[in-house]
Order: sequence, then structure tokens, then C-alpha cells
Amino acid sequence: MYTIFTDPLHRIAYATDASAYREVPQGVAFPENEQDIIYLVETARERKTHLIPRAGGTSIAGQVVGNGIVVDISKHFKEILEINKEERWARVQPGVVLDELNLALEPYGLFFSPETSTSNRCCIGGMFGNNSCGSHSLVYGSTRHHVLEAQGVLCDGSIEVFKTYTIRELEERFGNRFWETESNLLIQNIYTQLIRWALDEKTVQLIEENYPDKNLRRRSCGYAIDEVIEDLHNTAKPLEERTINLCKVLAGSEGTLTFITEIKVDLDPLPPKEKMVVCAHCDTLQKSFLGNLVALKFNPVAVELMDRNILELSKENAEQSKNRFFVQGDPAAILIIELRGETRTEIDALADRLEKALMENEEHLVYACSRVYGSEISKVWSLRKAGLGLLTGMKGDAKPIGVIEDTAVAPEKLPDYMADFAQMLENLNLSCVYHAHISTGELHLRPILNIKEAEGKRKFREVAYQTALLVKKYKGSLSGEHGDGRLRGEFIQLMYGDEVYALMQDLKKCWDPLQVFNLHKIVDTLPMDSMLRFEVGQQYAIEKELGESHTYYNWKAAFDECKVEGATGAKNQLHALMCSIEQCNGAGDCRKSNLMGGTLCPAFKVSGDETKATRARANVLREILTRGWESEAFAQALDKDKSILKSKELAEVLDSCLACKGCRSECPSNVDMTRLRSEILQQKYDVSGMPLRSFAVSRMATVEQFGHLVWPLYNLFASWQFSSNIIKRIINFSTERDIPTLSRVTMRTAVNRECRRHKDQATKGKVLLFADEFTNFQEAELGLTFAKLLLRLGYEVEIPKHVESGRAAISKGNLKLAKKFAIKNVNLLKDKVSEQTPLVGIEPSCILSFRDEYPDLVPAEQRNEAKTLAKNALLFDEFIMREMAAGRITTDNFKPDAVEIWLHGHCHQKALVGTEKTVAALKLLQGAQVHVIPSGCCGMAGSFGYEKEHYQTSLAIGEMVLFPTIRKTLAHADDVTPCIVSAPGTSCRQQILDGTGVHAVHPIEILYRWVK
Ligand SMILES: Cc1cc2nc3c(=O)[nH]c(=O)nc-3n(C[C@H](O)[C@H](O)[C@H](O)COP(=O)(O)OP(=O)(O)OC[C@H]3O[C@@H](n4cnc5c(N)ncnc54)[C@H](O)[C@@H]3O)c2cc1C
Ligand code: SF4
Ligand code: SF4
Repeated sequence: MYTIFTDPLHRIAYATDASAYREVPQGVAFPENEQDIIYLVETARERKTHLIPRAGGTSIAGQVVGNGIVVDISKHFKEILEINKEERWARVQPGVVLDELNLALEPYGLFFSPETSTSNRCCIGGMFGNNSCGSHSLVYGSTRHHVLEAQGVLCDGSIEVFKTYTIRELEERFGNRFWETESNLLIQNIYTQLIRWALDEKTVQLIEENYPDKNLRRRSCGYAIDEVIEDLHNTAKPLEERTINLCKVLAGSEGTLTFITEIKVDLDPLPPKEKMVVCAHCDTLQKSFLGNLVALKFNPVAVELMDRNILELSKENAEQSKNRFFVQGDPAAILIIELRGETRTEIDALADRLEKALMENEEHLVYACSRVYGSEISKVWSLRKAGLGLLTGMKGDAKPIGVIEDTAVAPEKLPDYMADFAQMLENLNLSCVYHAHISTGELHLRPILNIKEAEGKRKFREVAYQTALLVKKYKGSLSGEHGDGRLRGEFIQLMYGDEVYALMQDLKKCWDPLQVFNLHKIVDTLPMDSMLRFEVGQQYAIEKELGESHTYYNWKAAFDECKVEGATGAKNQLHALMCSIEQCNGAGDCRKSNLMGGTLCPAFKVSGDETKATRARANVLREILTRGWESEAFAQALDKDKSILKSKELAEVLDSCLACKGCRSECPSNVDMTRLRSEILQQKYDVSGMPLRSFAVSRMATVEQFGHLVWPLYNLFASWQFSSNIIKRIINFSTERDIPTLSRVTMRTAVNRECRRHKDQATKGKVLLFADEFTNFQEAELGLTFAKLLLRLGYEVEIPKHVESGRAAISKGNLKLAKKFAIKNVNLLKDKVSEQTPLVGIEPSCILSFRDEYPDLVPAEQRNEAKTLAKNALLFDEFIMREMAAGRITTDNFKPDAVEIWLHGHCHQKALVGTEKTVAALKLLQGAQVHVIPSGCCGMAGSFGYEKEHYQTSLAIGEMVLFPTIRKTLAHADDVTPCIVSAPGTSCRQQILDGTGVHAVHPIEILYRWVK
């Protein structure tokens, strides 16, 4: 029998999408084939509930939020069934991700052209459901323009193919002039209804008069009845030759009419390689609206807008701050204008004329232009695409809310529409963020609102209503691409009038008389301000247990220091903690597969399981800490007297997190699950005690310190299978892993000895080495190598007095202990470490704790000292780069040689500083070819990969990219050029050894081998 998951974890994880709504579904299903869907349709009918088809779950208007059964097709309906190069089409299952389809199409020189910003996780089924489009809709239109055929299950369980049929073909199936008689056949009724409307002059006129401008490229408001009947009332053709394709109305129907199981889409040839973007800087928004009209005269393939708010927010985001390189000064808005051509000369000439028109215009529309070419263009688009995510990362309760974020009017009407809009905002005393698809008249307008408060909630409705009136005035569309869902459905009647709205209601009734599909979306929606994630006046359930200020991290500091205009800050520590969780807006960047690169989120990448994505963790934390046992998801829970921190669901989502910090940098909203996880784990230990394994791992350095006194015995015990298995079983480690053994002398001792030998030889200043707990006890030789390298390069080296970094304690959630280490280290090092004498580390995760965690772990009075220390705590490669920049280290210090280096960066390093500096340091060896392995997390992640229940997952993560790349590389290496695998992380090196048998080396060892 087919399983519908009704457990609290699944119900909570699927209670939201990327909208402001939350409604706990009755259950969640993961069908594997069409038969499963038929079964689900029958079950829904029997249980008098409805199915909510769901793909990537990135809808912004609450399309996939509801109280029925959510049916997730993103897990099993992922096959590309057929590609026809000659006829330029592809047949796919609806769960195929857009970017993954386009990757598969690349060798054919083709692509599926509507590219939504969520292309790396949204699915073709979801795009069809929402009629999605993207930045290049000016040229390529929306999904509706590209779906040739679809197959789906109707509410009576029948399977139907939707494609272009002539009336003659339909008559062959249903009988002559079938639309004139009544029938019991569902599909016949569907065609009958539309044909009757098309043949009725009054209905056609009603539709023509009330639908938005025909020439509007973007419109996803209501059912597209006008498009589906267009050819049916084409009186130039004989009736029997007129055609109908139901895909036209299914596009944008948001899963309310049928359940799609297959889609055939047409494809476009890949665009010419030569392209450029001109980033035109405007000093007022109004100038950008006018600048768009000028740009449109130069045949751009896209013109997109980003306003100052987004540019400001991008400064705070680790990933996007790297993509701001093209910004000059402090523009109020930037127009990104993409030009394409056959040659560079051709587009340069076009750009010259465009820039002249913009800059020499009498209104001086633009004050500066940056031109971006080649691979750098993707960085500009990445920043633009991250816009929406960045917005919801704004700190505090007030957020740029998606409510009127999808209006579209003809571009020439945009300046006037925007003037009226600005006036309306002023009347409502609201400010707004502006961005996105200006070329097609669609701007993502996000007013900053605090809908947790009654006044904010009132304005949420008011701004929606008044904007609807304005859009109607300009004959625009209330939704250009995001759809209606439960957000805009309420205003369709206002936009289209009572009669057209009644047609839409009739359409839904005709397709879905049994009420099986996604109820209360588009038509008959609930009030747009009901079922929000946070209700007015709601208290956080966890506050009763923790009080306002009992947190281990100083969550509030970042809120107090946030400079973004409109950010409301946090009242107390608990509020700041909750707001940090609420920063997850559900946009789903954490659902990228490994084909899409990046680290975020390994637990999802390896399983394809929503409950293991960062989004699910944030959803579960938010639901449990806000609503506690009162959540509808816990209606059946028995033991509601215990602390909510003891809930199984909380444990489950935290357990699958590797604490890799992938989300810390790659989540556009800066959801930092590594930190949230350790805070909640410590709070949980406070009520239920710390498991032995967590205690043992966080105290590992202490154990090793004592073990070191009897190191031969320790090593014998750790490496002898019988004894080591006993330890592993006690602490629940996998017996497949080896317990690390200890070095004969510690790094501290070895380095001190070496330094004494080289006393007074330094010429270039002093370096303080951080003898982190892993290198000090387990890899002293590596620590010594680094010291020797520095000495050879002319530096004085010293290991100052310090304690362990506390990295293991942080990752196991032992924050009480980590706090002690942080306080001690700040006290011991604050007067020793300075810009001239930095603290330099070998193991990325340890030294980066000084930067990422310490300032928020130490008491408030030590924060500034910790921040100063953080500034001067450098990873080995950062130090080398700094010295290269000052001319104190050059390629002359190293012997040139031909060597191939394959580098796997540590995930904390990737999240906080990137691998660019390691690459640059390795390139000090002239002749070295450095390749960065496009791996995310190696899968070991501290102790995660050692843990018995995580061992297989850990190896599977390694198998996604890292292990196969290493195997392939070494298999193809020649005998002449040395080929070295390098990884700065100690656990990464262990994982590479366990997964491939290859001994990876630290970059320091490579540099030392070639230093003169
Ligand atoms: C940050 C961000 C940026 C965005 N940018 C854009 C953009 O540039 N352009 C744009 O158009 N949209 C954009 N969106 C909205 C959203 O990403 C798109 O609409 C996307 O195509 C939805 O795809 P999905 O796979 O997430 O679908 P889902 O959200 O899961 O579903 C979308 C709709 O399709 C229906 N559906 C899904 N599968 C089926 C099926 N098998 N049968 C029937 N119905 C089905 C669902 O019921 C739902 O109504 C953005 C969203 C976010 C969060
Ligand atoms: S965790 Fe970040 S990336 Fe994932 S859905 Fe939430 S906001 Fe988006
Ligand atoms: S820390 Fe890593 S595993 Fe955990 S949620 Fe973030 S990306 Fe996923």
C-alpha cells in the first residue's frame, strides 16, 4: 500500500513554500509513477480532501501551501524521457529541474529558454504550474509559449494527453458538434465549455474587454481563458480547422485543474556566445524607469533593475559581496542591460551607442556605465538573481514582503505607474524595494512591512488592494510571473470584473467537479491575510522555557549593528534568535543538487529529501520554537508535558545537519544553520543532558592531551582493532573508521625546538602560530613544516600561550565549554596579536572560529577585543597572500616546477574566505597548475563521518563529486608531471584517504617542498 506521511516532521516541513503563508497539510506523499498519482486522486476523493501538487516548492504566493495532501513530485518524477534534436523538443517528467534539463541539452546546442531566477532548483512542472519566465522573457516569453504537450491525471482518475487538436479531431473523438449536447465524460465537458465560450460573441467580447493588454509579455493572473480560446474564435478559419490546446490554460493554473505527469517542451538554439552586459548607474529610481525605455531601443535581450536596498544587502552576504565588482559609487538603481551579437566588435559598437544615448540624454539618465564580458557576466546575474533572497534576509521583524511583488504594466506606462505607486506608498507611509524585469514592465516591488503587528498586517491588505486598483488603471497584470496562489486570488474579481471571475470559477468547477486539486488557489481563495507564518500577537512558545535572554550566542549584536535601512533590530536575545531562524524565506537555494555545484546543502544533495534541506531545518525550528506543542502537527502527540526541546522532530533535523556552514554563505538570506544548530543543541542538553558521544568528541583534545603522556600506549590502544572497536562502540562511532593516533611530540614542542635553533635569523617580522588541537596532537609534523616554511621565508615564529579553539565543542553543541575556550583565548591573545604580529592557523575550521564564532560567544564586554583579535586571525593562505601583496613573499622564494595540484577546500574556508587565496598561494610555484575540485563538503565534517549512523551518508557525500574526481584525475595522470591532491582540512584528508586510498597533503606541505 502506498504511504502518505502524516508524521509531524513531514507535515511541518511541507507547511510553507517561499511565501508568507503557513498551513499544516494533512499529509505528504512522494509518488513514484502515474499509478501512484491515480491512487492519490482516488484517496483524496474518498477522504474528501484535496491534493496539492508540489515540485521545488519555491512559489511566492502560497500556491503549494494548504490543508490537503501535499504531493511532492521532485523526488521521483525526475527523468528526461526524450530529446529530439532535429525537431527541437524534449519530453520530461515534471520534477526535472530547469538547470539540470539545460545541462543535458547543452551538447545538442539547445536549451529551454524561460529561465526563472530559481532555475537551479525549480522544476519544469512548477514552471508550467505558475507559467514562469525569466530575465530574458523579452525574447523568449513565458513557459506557456513553450509547452507543446502535457499528460496528466484528471480528478476522475482518467489519464489525458493535452496538445493541439482541431475541432475536427475532437469531433472524431466525441461526436459531431459534441459541444451542443450534455455529457458525462469529464474531458468532453472541459472542451465543451471552452468551445461554447469561444463561439459566443458576448463572452469573447467580455474577455477581450477585461483581460490585460494583449501585448503585455508577462501575465499570470487568473486562468488564461483568452489564450486557450484564441484560435477557436478565429473566424478566418473554417470551424473544423480551428484548434485548441489545453496546455495554454494549464500553464499558470497552479495545480488546480489536473495533475501533470509528463510535459513536452519546445527548445531554442543556444544564444550566440558573444554577449555583454552594460550596468547603467542611475542616481534616482525615476531615471532608471526612463533609462529602460531608452535601452529598449537598442534591442537588448534583457534589461533588469536592482535598487540601492539590494545593493546594500549584498554587502552583508558572504557570497554576493564578491559579485559587486561592477558597482561604481552609490547608485539609487542599476539597470543591467544585456546585449548579444556575433562578434565582440559588433556588441561593443552597440554598447557605445547605447551608453551615449543614456549618458548624453538631456536628463542625464545615467552617471556611469560598467561593461562586463565573458564569465564575469554570470556574477552580475547571480547578484541580480539573489536579490529576492537577499531582501528577506533583512534583519528584524520588518521585511520587504511579497504582496505586490509581481505587477506588470506595459513598459511605456511604467514611469507614470511608478509615479502613482510612489504617491500611494507615501500616503501609506511605506518604503519599498524595487528590482527585476523592468524591460517587460514587471518590477518586483516589495514594501517593507512588519506583518507580525496589527498595523503592518492592515497595510499588507491595504497596499495589495490599492495596487490592484492602480494596475487595473494601467491595464496591467497583478501577476506577471509568480502567479496568484492564495495571495492575489482575492483581487482577481476586482481586476477582471464579476462576470469574468464567474467564468474562472466555472472553469475550475468544470475541470475539478470532485474538488480534488489544490483548493482555494486562484479562485475562491481564503482572505489574503489569513494563515500567515506568524499571527499578530503570537508569543514564542520557547520563551516560557528560556526567558528573553538565555542564549549562548549573542544573537542580538548582529541586529544592533545592521545598517540596512528599514531593519528593525531585535528586542532581546531570544527575539534575535527567532528572527535569525525566520530569515529563511523558503526560496529553496538549499535544494540544489550536486550537479549545480556549491556546498549548500550536502544533506539534501545526497538524499534529495526535503526534510534534510536547510529550509526544513529552519521550518521545523520556527514551528516548534514558536508554536510548541500547540502546533496542529502535534495534534496526536501524547507526551506534551515535556520540554518542547525534547521533541523528536527537532532532534531529527539537527542530526542530519553536518554543520558545514554551506548555508552560512550560500543561503541568500544568511540562514546560519551551523550556529543555530549548536545553540539549540546546548539548550536541549540543558534540559535532557548531553549524550556521551557529544561529550567525548568535544573533550577530544583533553583526552589527547592526557593520552600524549603515554602516547605509545594510546596509539596501540587506538590502532589495535580489538581495543579501538570497544571505544568506537561505546561512543557509537563506525568501526569502519580509524581513530586518529597521536604524534610522538606535540606541534608546540617540535616548533619551539625548531625556533630555538633559528633564533635571531628573522628579517621579515613575527608570526604567531596557532597550534590547533588537531595539528598539535595528531599532525605535529605538519605544524613543524609550516614553522620551517615561515622560518625559511625569513619570519620569526612563536606559538603563543593559548588553549584549544573549541571547534569540536561548537560543532557538538557544547557551547558552555566552547564559551570558556573563547573567553580564555581572547584574554590570552588580545595583547599579543596585532596587525603586525598576526595569529596564523593551519586548520581552517579552528582558526576561523576566532573570526566567525568568538565575537558572539564571549561576553558583551569582551566583544570588541574579540573582534580585533578576529581581524588579525588569519588562515595560512591569507597570511601568505598578505605578504605577497606587501612584496615580502614572491615566486622567487620557490623553485619553479611542473606540477598538477588538485585542491579540495575545507567547507568552513569556502564559506568564510573562499579558496582563491589558497590557489594564489600555490601558484607561487611557477609551473604549478592548480585545479579546484568542484566539491562541496567532503562528507566527514568533523566527527559526522565517524558517527555510526552517518557513516554511509558521509561516504555517499564524498562519492557525489570529490572521490570520483580524485580517482579520475589520478587514473589519467602521466608519469612525468607530479599530480598531488591537496586539502587544508584534517578531516577532509582523512575522508579522502578512507574514500579513495589517496593521501592528500596540506597546501603548506606543497609549498615547503618547493621553497628555496
Ligand atoms: C527567490 C525567488 C525568485 C523567483 N524568481 C522567479 C522568476 O524569475 N520568474 C518566475 O517566473 N518565478 C520566479 N519565482 C517563483 C517560482 O520560483 C517559480 O514560479 C517556479 O517556476 C516554481 O517552480 P517550483 O518547482 O518551485 O514549483 P512549485 O512552487 O512547487 O509549484 C508551482 C505550481 O505548480 C504546481 N505544480 C507543480 N507540479 C505540478 C504537477 N505535476 N501537476 C500540476 N501542477 C503542478 C503547484 O501546485 C504550484 O501551483 C521566484 C521565486 C523565488 C523564491
Ligand atoms: S535556508 Fe536559505 S536557501 Fe534555504 S530556503 Fe531558507 S532562505 Fe532559502
Ligand atoms: S550547515 Fe551544512 S548541512 Fe547544515 S544546513 Fe547548512 S548547508 Fe546544510
